[in-house]
Amino acid sequence: MHDTMESRIQAKSFPATAPGSEPRIPVAVRSILLAALEIGSQGVALFDPSDLLVYANEAFRNGWSVEPNTYPTFAEMMRLCHANGVGPVVETDNIESWIAAANRRRRFGPPLRAFEVDLCDGRWFWITERRLDSGWILLIGQDITSLKHTEETLRTARDTAVRDSLTDPLTQLANRRSAMNRLDWQFGGGKPFSLALIDLDHFKRINDSFGHAVGDEVLRLLGQKLEALRARNCMPARLAGDEFAVIGPPGADPDWFAELLRGFMQDAAQTTRFHDHLIQPQLSIGIARAGVDGKDVRSLLASADAALYEVKRGGRSAVSVYTKAMGDERLARAELRRELSDALANDEFVPFFQPIVDLGTGATVGYEMLARWKHPTHGLITPDRFIPLMMSSGGLMELTENLIERAGREIAGLPAGGRIAFNISVQQLKRDMLLPMLERLGEKGGIPLDRLEMEITEEALLENPLEAARAVEAVRKLGLRIVLDDFGIGFSSLHHLREMHFDGVKLDRSFLKKLDERRNQRFLAALIHLANELNLETVVEGIEDEKTRDIVAGLGARFGQGYLFGRPAPAQTPV
Ligand code: C2E
Ligand code: CA
Ligand code: CA
Repeated sequence: MHDTMESRIQAKSFPATAPGSEPRIPVAVRSILLAALEIGSQGVALFDPSDLLVYANEAFRNGWSVEPNTYPTFAEMMRLCHANGVGPVVETDNIESWIAAANRRRRFGPPLRAFEVDLCDGRWFWITERRLDSGWILLIGQDITSLKHTEETLRTARDTAVRDSLTDPLTQLANRRSAMNRLDWQFGGGKPFSLALIDLDHFKRINDSFGHAVGDEVLRLLGQKLEALRARNCMPARLAGDEFAVIGPPGADPDWFAELLRGFMQDAAQTTRFHDHLIQPQLSIGIARAGVDGKDVRSLLASADAALYEVKRGGRSAVSVYTKAMGDERLARAELRRELSDALANDEFVPFFQPIVDLGTGATVGYEMLARWKHPTHGLITPDRFIPLMMSSGGLMELTENLIERAGREIAGLPAGGRIAFNISVQQLKRDMLLPMLERLGEKGGIPLDRLEMEITEEALLENPLEAARAVEAVRKLGLRIVLDDFGIGFSSLHHLREMHFDGVKLDRSFLKKLDERRNQRFLAALIHLANELNLETVVEGIEDEKTRDIVAGLGARFGQGYLFGRPAPAQTPV
């Protein structure tokens, strides 16, 4: 067969064998070369000037379904392939015009061409086509189907990875990275726009009380509602856990944006059923304007965050728009935060004491210890300024330990049976933190542990009720008394009173407001009665005048605390 083919090639006077141009290749060697072509994986074919196939190796014949010992023209070969469904993908359905166009390229296009062809059966070929001066065409084809598949797999993997890296998997909203890109881009555009930071109030509580599946559902629904803001040309995003953002459209009126978010907040606050639990998600929203309230992404975020902080401080569930005062406050906070760790090391925190008195006899029965920061330049700072900062930056436990130790040295003349009450915050309500601290205090031999009273707010109990209950029990075993602080203002005080063992409750001073109104008085009476019935010692906080003291005493409360009996003061004064 090879000989036949060779003779055909010779008959057409293939130029490589033209006399004088190149050394003649002996017939035997030529046979070897042809045999080598036969076993190669690349398809090799040769068409003569009349486009008749004069040679095709096995790979080529297999690839293009050309029967052995047949020598069709290029056009005939393509027609046959097309009919068998293995030809090149032809965009129009007309194979003849495709062949005509291909032949124009083959005969009159550049003499050396390399290109990809995709075939109707899904295969891909890489073709190198060489037209010789004499009009012969040498065609080499390589099957690159698997290469193509790998390429395709890589491309989709890359597209998916890019998409995933910019999307929050839970809500399908844009993620933080994507939001930051967008903010950069909008700053680049130079048009003013607004940014809203959104915080889902008490999300941790939802998660802890109803489980993570419910928590996820709440986030997902919020995500869906935020997604709808796209219709107003806003870009919603989930930045982290329960933090979301909405980037307003470039050039939009800030008042329009604030109004849009107020409406959104109300809409989001609808009570919804999540897995059998009725939940009313509430949002805190802080807004800042790019350009005006922040010159770059960082400062814009900081301003929106300052506005958000303002909402949270004011009791949450509101929209606040950034003002300069909020920015100043933020800077002051940041400054204090930086100074906090030095303050601990420099012993700048001191305990103040406020007497707790027996309303019947007027005798002081103990003191509540309240922290003060003796700041070297700002003077005395009250705990509402630094306790929240320490909650995020740490140091609370060290503070409590220092203060109790100091109290032991300073309050030498504690009345017989007198107690020192101290406050602890959410983060401190853990056994592995509280117990070692109290045991250390016990060993140091300051105030005997059974003279200490631990005040816990309900807020602290809610964060992790199980761990809190265990911590409280362990502390009680050490001999301390446990008191529920700010009783009555949380939303499940009664539940905690029933489930946990307290020695007393402190009624928040908000219950003393407008006591001349009968309804308010009856309310206070009911709370005192409840505590008495449960055998809990009651301390009513915030008594500022004698009239209030008399009413409170008349309603059956045993103990009181407030400016009337003494303001919080350093040890020398009260003792
Ligand atoms: P709290 O435990 O409810 O403490 C009572 C607060 O009411 C104190 O504010 C006290 O000065 C104030 N107060 C007392 N009597 C009256 C009154 O007659 N009228 C009015 N208007 N206010 C009165 P302070 O000292 O600013 O403490 C604020 C909060 O900071 C405390 O609330 C407590 O939760 C927290 N705190 C204070 N010291 C510490 C501490 O060492 N550790 C922790 N974790 N929290 C502390
Ligand atoms: Ca307290
Ligand atoms: Ca209190």
